[in-house]
Amino acid sequence: MADHAAVAAAAKAGPVVCLYVLDDVTPGHWKMGAAQRWWLHHSLAALAKSLGGRLVLRRGEAGVVVPEVAAAIGAAAVHTLTHYEPWAKLQDAAVAKATELKRYHGALLAAPGSVTAGGGGRYRIFTPWWNKLRAELPPPLPMKAPELVFGDVPAGDDLADWELLPTKPDWAGGFDVWEPGEAGAAKRLAAFLDVARDYAAGRNLPSQEGSSRLSPHLSLGEISVRTVWHAVADAVPADAAEPYLRELGWRDFAANILDQFPEHGDVPGRVQFDDLAFRSAPDELAAWQRGMTGYPIVDAGMRQLWTIGWMHNRVRMIASSFLVKHLLIDWRTGEQFFWDCLVDADLGSNSLGWQWVMGSGVDSSPFNRVFAPVSQSAKFDAAGYIREWVPELRGLSDAAIHAPWEVGGVAGYPAPIVGHAEGRARALAAYAAVKGTG
Ligand SMILES: Cc1cc2nc3c(=O)[nH]c(=O)nc-3n(C[C@H](O)[C@H](O)[C@H](O)COP(=O)(O)OP(=O)(O)OC[C@H]3O[C@@H](n4cnc5c(N)ncnc54)[C@H](O)[C@@H]3O)c2cc1C
Repeated sequence: MADHAAVAAAAKAGPVVCLYVLDDVTPGHWKMGAAQRWWLHHSLAALAKSLGGRLVLRRGEAGVVVPEVAAAIGAAAVHTLTHYEPWAKLQDAAVAKATELKRYHGALLAAPGSVTAGGGGRYRIFTPWWNKLRAELPPPLPMKAPELVFGDVPAGDDLADWELLPTKPDWAGGFDVWEPGEAGAAKRLAAFLDVARDYAAGRNLPSQEGSSRLSPHLSLGEISVRTVWHAVADAVPADAAEPYLRELGWRDFAANILDQFPEHGDVPGRVQFDDLAFRSAPDELAAWQRGMTGYPIVDAGMRQLWTIGWMHNRVRMIASSFLVKHLLIDWRTGEQFFWDCLVDADLGSNSLGWQWVMGSGVDSSPFNRVFAPVSQSAKFDAAGYIREWVPELRGLSDAAIHAPWEVGGVAGYPAPIVGHAEGRARALAAYAAVKGTG
């Protein structure tokens, strides 16, 4: 409700009705995944409470449902923030055909199309894009939540009937580390401000809580990126804040790429990557998904993902690289799995991350980089992280824990499903066989 341009404009225009539509139709195979549905349930419950129970919930195709509700209550206009996922564009177009739709900027630091090169062209590479945008920042100061005057509230669905929470089995027991909702987002931000000064070093160390963990709150719009920007910029000296502000920039950049390439979640930026000889290896895929690859850092990450619906960024890179390079399994398989498991699932950031690791993106990232799980694990001091998520290995020393097979293995923990040298060589050979990458 705070710093939400659409809510602010609606509040100014007259009595409001707040509507949330769960649309599982328009996004197709990118409909919201299971972990994020858990988040959504709690987020909507918190929002409804803050609105005194006056949140209207409806389910169905947004392009149909929104005009229906607008007509039923005689709404003068529908106010919304602009989003850049392909389905958001379809929804907006359908709503705009049937009713007065007013869209506002606010989900990002800058509207994607507004950051252009000298000749008016769009950017595909982060650094020049960021340099251009950074010169125009900081963003405007965030707005307070407006006082709302409510119109008559039409009938809606019961949140419980949407069955967003898992039941059989209830795999979300570990998700209680999170507090979804606007108040939870504010608390998370306040907690981060205490450590924000050390972000540049801390963010890469999975054993520490050095990053903000605001991604799920940002992803579902519980806090605005401008609020986060100004809070961090005010709390710590400029040189300490800058690395964090740049990461917020990556979120915008991901939306900028998705806006230009709406199929970025499904189609490689460099099309020749569709010729790559991916392997079908269901047992190895299952081992990766369950955190049983025999590589402690990969397994710790996958188990963290499964348990709390989130994975540390450094480990996301290592675990996703392991799937696409060491196992040579199609990046889209991993991307879809992340989509289902992440509470911060975001099509722009997820596809950018996977295509970056794959080396297939439109930004010409290097395709022959193969993350070495053991040396990455040691370099980023992941022993404590591994002990937390792979309890079988708790008895190993800091030196031994990254590669248990080198000390004779540990009962109950698997041997590596592929050797590092073997996996790396197989990946490089497969890449070399693709035109333009050898
Ligand atoms: C394979 C892969 C898949 C990913 N999928 C997602 C996803 O679905 N949703 C998602 O939000 N992020 C995704 N990321 C990016 C990144 O891992 C997360 O944003 C980050 O781990 C969130 O933790 P945090 O909030 O503590 O980040 P912080 O380090 O505190 O960063 C602050 C904010 O900046 C943004 N940000 C940081 N890094 C990135 C990045 N590389 N790309 C885009 N935005 C970034 C996020 O909004 C984040 O909350 C993915 C990365 C990889 C390698």
